[in-house]
Amino acid sequence: MLKYKTFLVFVLTAFCIAGGIAPFSASALTDSPSPWAADTVSQAAQKDLIPQDLNGSSYRQDITRSDFSRLALSLYAHLTGDTPTAPAASYFSDTDDAAVSAAYELQLMSGRGNGIFSPADPITRQEVAVAITKTLAASGIDTSMPADDILGELKPFSDLCDMAGWATQSFAFTLENKILYGMSETELCPTRLTTVEQAVVIASRCLDKYTLPPMATPSPSATPTPDASEARRVSISGDASLVSTGDRSAVVSWKAMPKASTYRVDIYLDQSNFWFADDDQFVKSVYTAANTMAGLQNLRAGMTYRLLINGLDAAQNPVCTYGAVLKITPPQTQQQKEQAVFSDGDITQKEQADALMQSVTVNVWKIGRDGSKYASKATIVVHKQIADPVRNIFKEIFEGTEKFPIKDAGGYNWREPMASGRLSHHNYGTAIDINADENYCIYKDGSTVGKFWLPGQNPYSILPDGEVVSIFAKYGFVWGGDSWSNPNDYMHFSYLGL
Ligand SMILES: [Zn+2]
Repeated sequence: MLKYKTFLVFVLTAFCIAGGIAPFSASALTDSPSPWAADTVSQAAQKDLIPQDLNGSSYRQDITRSDFSRLALSLYAHLTGDTPTAPAASYFSDTDDAAVSAAYELQLMSGRGNGIFSPADPITRQEVAVAITKTLAASGIDTSMPADDILGELKPFSDLCDMAGWATQSFAFTLENKILYGMSETELCPTRLTTVEQAVVIASRCLDKYTLPPMATPSPSATPTPDASEARRVSISGDASLVSTGDRSAVVSWKAMPKASTYRVDIYLDQSNFWFADDDQFVKSVYTAANTMAGLQNLRAGMTYRLLINGLDAAQNPVCTYGAVLKITPPQTQQQKEQAVFSDGDITQKEQADALMQSVTVNVWKIGRDGSKYASKATIVVHKQIADPVRNIFKEIFEGTEKFPIKDAGGYNWREPMASGRLSHHNYGTAIDINADENYCIYKDGSTVGKFWLPGQNPYSILPDGEVVSIFAKYGFVWGGDSWSNPNDYMHFSYLGL
């Protein structure tokens, strides 16, 4: 779909991390790494990936959770070019280590609940998988995976029952991307501990895989060229200033292009692991005369947008293109959500689920026989942990400018496990279907549940860039319409993803 892939030149502003990371020679590590790790560790040291202020002294001992936080911060700094700033607060009762707070604030690391971080504890492989995946996500890399791919990655291993539910997606992602490997053909050993040298090698693989080719910072005064092959991605610290937002609108501004009289901003939803790719989904184009775009509406929390800012001359010919990335702050981490939903343990039986549900009654718009909209009520049963957000979601939809009509809305529904053995998230009361007939679920083999999906034509069909999707996203729900590849489930909103 996107044709820019071949000519877009990526800019990673050459960065220098002032005071953040000192050279290898200053590292506290006193011994040498194991032979298998020596080359990678030495390359990582040359790239200043290994933090100088590790508390450990040996490559071969287990890395602590606080030292892993230092390594995650270093990886984040290298991938983004940002220097992590001093944390705003101390978040844990058992440590005031600034690196731990900074890593937590950037959503690279999680605590262990109840204000505990356990800084001196070793870190398990599954915790590493989650921390690395979170660090990549915080660095703007898409770490989402379709359910089928997750199952496919994990299928060969026989020790999955040792793995915590919160780690499965991250573990699958790190396997797929060759960041972590099984300990044997059939063992993942998710609870085994990680040594300092293993952690460095893992971070180093990420750096090799996800670093953009460096090039010089474009000079702001350079005359724009009409050659589209000069298209540029502009980093956040470069020519385009980007506002990351937890809400649903943003203002984006960029360096004026001297020969441009108008700008066309092409907005894409990032669905790939790399900058611009064919998987990215076109949302819309917006025209603006000024080098700013106010009120970019209906942004979706937790998603990354890619903007191509095309300067056009008076004859509408392109003079220059900037690329920019707009990351919308997720409201809650996956782990926080899972902790909330499964606070009483995994849900496997109907009786367990029944006890956790709550009925929520909300205002909705209906369409009368004469075609006009009138206010009515709907009742939805959902997990008690999401009852308040669900009330707010439907309040915002009801008060929204679209006045989106809701014929039917279904939440909790105890169903038999799917063919894969997995339970539907309707069993947990964490998924909601809206207007099922007009927002069908269509599988790759062509089979469907519901009748059709005709956004823009049928008033009950959900618009991909409309209010319903962005309001759900603001409260941490993903939309089945475009969040995984099979099926496209246009009626379905899910709090836990997948
Ligand atoms: Zn559903």
